[in-house]
Formats: sequence, structure tokens, C-alpha cells
Amino acid sequence: AHLARIDAVDEKVHAFLHVDREGALAQARAVDEKRARGEKLGPLAGVPLALKDIFTTEGIPTTVGSKILEGWIPPYDATLTKRLKDADVVILGKTNMDEFAMGSSTENSAYGPTGNPWDLTKIPGGSGGGSSAALASYEAPLAIGTDTGGSIRQPAAVTGTVGVKPTYGAVSRYGMVAFSSSLDQGGPCARTVLDAALLHEVIAGHDPLDSTSIDAPVPPVVEAARNGSVAGMRVGVVKQFRGEGYQAGVLQRFDESVELLRELGAEIVEVDCPSFDLALAAYYLIAPSECSSNLARFDGLRYGLRTGDDGTRSAEDVTALTREAGFGPEVKRRVMLGTYALSSGYYDAYYGSAQKVRTLITRDFEKAFEQVDVLVSPTTPTTAFAIGERADDPMAMYLADLCTIPTNLAGNAAMSLPCGLAPEDGLPVGLQIIAPAMKDDRLYKVGAAVE
Ligand code: GLN
Repeated sequence: AHLARIDAVDEKVHAFLHVDREGALAQARAVDEKRARGEKLGPLAGVPLALKDIFTTEGIPTTVGSKILEGWIPPYDATLTKRLKDADVVILGKTNMDEFAMGSSTENSAYGPTGNPWDLTKIPGGSGGGSSAALASYEAPLAIGTDTGGSIRQPAAVTGTVGVKPTYGAVSRYGMVAFSSSLDQGGPCARTVLDAALLHEVIAGHDPLDSTSIDAPVPPVVEAARNGSVAGMRVGVVKQFRGEGYQAGVLQRFDESVELLRELGAEIVEVDCPSFDLALAAYYLIAPSECSSNLARFDGLRYGLRTGDDGTRSAEDVTALTREAGFGPEVKRRVMLGTYALSSGYYDAYYGSAQKVRTLITRDFEKAFEQVDVLVSPTTPTTAFAIGERADDPMAMYLADLCTIPTNLAGNAAMSLPCGLAPEDGLPVGLQIIAPAMKDDRLYKVGAAVE
């Protein structure tokens, strides 16, 4: 049924870069056979899923939305892919994304943009717009995203779906193409809080192949999602997440959500996180710095694209020509920014300062969580904007992640879930819930209460 739905709508939505029809049907048949033999089935047996094209999949193309990996077929599965298969999930295919997960609209994909199923002229968010669009258009009931600065939560918000960035280290990064390693985190996307929790439990857990993987039990997210409640909880409203640039209808729905939390028995506290105002600036030094280093491996010799190798050119020239042809403008901008920020003489002024801001943000969170159990905010300052509207204005594009970036810098957990439609444009608004590191279950408990 989901493959038929993809056939019917994906030409317009363009959520998928690759549909693995044969593989999906074979996986589904294998589940049926297991069931017929009376064998024990995985926890999500037979449930179809859309996988962001940033996770390696053995034998299935993985492009990261980039021309530089066009045609590359990974020889191995990411740990996350393997866990999905072990849970008997049916992987439908790979979803569209901003190139190397750099963007907030999926317009930076080298393979063309994805439409927002609510209004195809609008962006579905990014970088994981394909995964969220697949959910919103009923092409898949579950999806996977990655969140470096908001790429799970912002697409969830603008498509009216649920997305969770787990605590940093909760989900293995092994086989997840690296953008900014100290920020990148895979996570679940779904249409309900409970669905997200069921997927969370399958993909989270220690992995010896990822040196930053948390070696501790996964918080009880499914139990929390089944027992939604905020009675007696302290909920903080971050002072910094409103004001100039916030759409009136977004703030209206957010304020209503806060009222609902109060009615359900939560105590509402205003909290001050002054360093959050510096988060965007710090992120756009740290993320490009790490990306400039991570993307050095795309040299035209090891993977995918190779340009200009006519037998007369040096390896260095072939690398330069390949990177010139294979990377899009946003990726080039970030590699150049990052290389500059890390170069000797500038390192302390830029990268060093950004790391200090990162510590201040972490401290703001620590102080806030001494007062409250969770924080709430709008997920994004505005609803989905038009495709093309911010394409030539990187700064305007970067602002889409104003409310999501502090969590990545501090490494704690956050969820976005729908909280209604903005009256002025009828488009979905996202409510963000933020929890301390390792307390991911609180997101689900609060999310299930207000869903
Ligand atoms: N939009 C942000 C960026 O462009 C976040 C991307 C992400 O979370 N992968 O870097």
C-alpha cells in the first residue's frame, strides 16, 4: 500500500531519492514467512520506513543529497540501518535532503527540492525534508532523520509531524555520513509521539563502533509515551525564544500550548538563558569548521564522482576538479568558512570563541534544569516559507534554526510535535520540548500529554 502511495504522489512531493521496491517487498515477504514459521518477530515487524539518504545501506545508493556521491553504493550498513533490519522494519527507500545535511529547506539537494505536502509551493524544512514530507503525505508511517542544528525538528514542525533529536550519543553515528561530528545525531520521525518512541527504542543504544556512543540503558521512552502526563511538573518558558522575527500565529499557538500545559497541572516558570542569543553565531563557526575537516575525505579518489582524470593531470588537480564539480554552493561556502576559521592566527578568535560560547550555553541549560523539568518553545520562528524565498539569502535560511541550535550545542534532547495551524496561513506550527541529557523519556511524557 505504501509503495502504491509513493507511486501516486511522489512525482509531485519528491520525498524519495531512491525507492527500493524489490528490497522492500523482499523484506515484507521475509517477515510474512517468519510469522508463518512461528519465529519470533522484531519489535517493528513489517512496518515500512523512509530512511534519510545520509545512512549507509549495503547495496543501495547513498548520496547524502550530493553529486559527489552520485552512483556510490556502500559496501556496508550503518549501525542504525542494521538495527532497523534486525527489528524487521521494511525500508522503503532513501529520502531527499539538503546536500550533506546543510540547510533548512531541502533546496540544497543536488537532486531538486521536495514539496511540503500541506502546500507543494512551500518548503518541507531541512535538511531532512524528504523524511518529514514522506510522513505528512502518508508515503511512510515512520522515518529517520538526523539533527545537527535542527534538521529533524524543523522539518517536523513545518510538516505537522513529530521529530526527536535524542541526547547526543544515544543513536550510533557509525555509517551516518559526517557533517559536524560533535553535533550530528540521528533520531526518529513519525506522525505520533508513541510511534516516535517505538522507533526511538529500536535505534538507540550503545555501539562500540561509535566512540561517542553512550554506554548506558536507553531511557524508558515507550513507557513514557504510553503514560503522558505533566501533573506536578515544572515547565520552563525560555525568555529568549520570542520577539522580533517570530510570526504572530506561531506565538499564538505556542502560548495556547503553554496554557494547555498549565491546565493539565504543570507549573509554568519563565527562565532566562542569555547565552542562547549567541548560539546561532557559535554554531555557524563550529559546524563549518568540523565540516571542512570531515569533507576532506571526498577527494575524487576514494568515493563516487571523479572529474578530469584523463591521464595527464595530477591527483591534486583531479581532487580540485572533482570537488569543484561535485559540491554545491552551500557546501563550498561552509568548507571555505570552516577552513578560514580553523587556520592558524584565526583559530582562537573564531573557533576558540565559539567553543567558549558553547560552554556558556551548556551552563544556561544546566541552570535552567535546576529550576524546571523541561523547557518549551516554538520549534521555528515561522511556518513553512515558499520554495525559493530564502534560497539566495543564507542568513535568512540560518534563522530557521534559531530555537533548535542551542540543544545541539549542549548535547541534550528535544522533540518537536504539532500544536495547531497558524491562523494567517493555515500551515502547521511546531511545539518544541527540551529535556536534560539522558532524560529523553521526559520529552515523550510531556509530548503524549499535550498531543
Ligand atoms: N539548518 C542547519 C544547517 O544548515 C541544521 C542542519 C542540520 O541539522 N543538519 O546547518
